[in-house]
Amino acid sequence: MSRPYQICTRCIMDTSDPEIRFDNQGVCDRCTAAIERMRSQLLPSPERERALAELVEKIKTEGRKKDYDCIIGVSGGVDSTITAYWVKKLGLRPLAVHFDNGWDSELAVDNIRNTLQALNIDLFTYVVDWEEFVNLQLSFLRANVVNCESPTDHGITATLFRMANKEKVRFILSGSNLVTEAIMPISWAYYNQDLRNLKAIHRKFGKEALKTFPTISIVDYLYYVFVEKIRQVPFLNYIEYNKEDAKRLLAKEIGWRDYGGKHYESVWTRFYQGYYLPRKFGFDKRRAHLSTLICSGQIRREEALSEMEKPTYDPKLLAEDMQYVIKKFSLTQEEFDAILNAPPKQHYEYPSHHFLFHKLMRHKNRFRKIATGA
Ligand SMILES: [Zn+2]
Repeated sequence: MSRPYQICTRCIMDTSDPEIRFDNQGVCDRCTAAIERMRSQLLPSPERERALAELVEKIKTEGRKKDYDCIIGVSGGVDSTITAYWVKKLGLRPLAVHFDNGWDSELAVDNIRNTLQALNIDLFTYVVDWEEFVNLQLSFLRANVVNCESPTDHGITATLFRMANKEKVRFILSGSNLVTEAIMPISWAYYNQDLRNLKAIHRKFGKEALKTFPTISIVDYLYYVFVEKIRQVPFLNYIEYNKEDAKRLLAKEIGWRDYGGKHYESVWTRFYQGYYLPRKFGFDKRRAHLSTLICSGQIRREEALSEMEKPTYDPKLLAEDMQYVIKKFSLTQEEFDAILNAPPKQHYEYPSHHFLFHKLMRHKNRFRKIATGA
């Protein structure tokens, strides 16, 4: 039986999130949890500045006599670019790592090159084996599962840890943060670190063996964290991060240019979030992003609602992207439509470490302290 429609009275999360729950005031558990996480994990000023100074000192000390003292992932997007900007400003010596999955927009490539040049940061680009990677992505589409960004996100994490290990650097500073990303229902995303699931899906639907694609198993991850003591620090949680201010600052100081959408630096991500997910799965990730911004006081609920009124796609751009995506996947329109119209499946309908990740998430606060050094 389908649920009657309901939207939160504080944020704009609604019943397109199947596990959402509302209290008797009509406030949802998503924003309640997000606000609680922001309250418990984000330090107020001036403790925040003190914690940042301590972190920077620790990174500098650990990184002495090494070529770099930290690794930063760069996508060309605002979160990773503002991280690069602040890291450099604070006197750290980062190596930027970019995972080139073959879908970067021209603007993203320009942004990465220009901003790193302006900031004088070295760049290592990992270029995937395209045939292998696109076949892996296609496996996820054919599996009818929700998180078709898993191949990219998994590959990024694996590449960051590998580079940190190779360079003997103990800190990976990431642009992930609470004030713009705290809300994301697991049924809209699924754990991209679940290598068992990734391999099972590819075994069933893939044609190209995964020979070079960088992977990270749970054992690898525990080795990096507990033996090599590599920390993944959500760096933006240490600064007062306002997205619009950051965009203005980057445009003014280092000539960064805006994309007009979260993660729209990749043509695939734009198409996946703006068309594929809403059409096939019936939800729009903007709802979670905007709800998070309401929780962190960066946008009013009315503004978020009117933002949701705007179409996810300009029709002309959608037609162009559709052709581009289908061609890159070497599909016909009919084959793509068949995928789009096939019923969705859950990730755990394939072999997975679903329960293990669920358990880990329940204890994530304890584990977070170890894994992030926070
Ligand atoms: Zn809410």
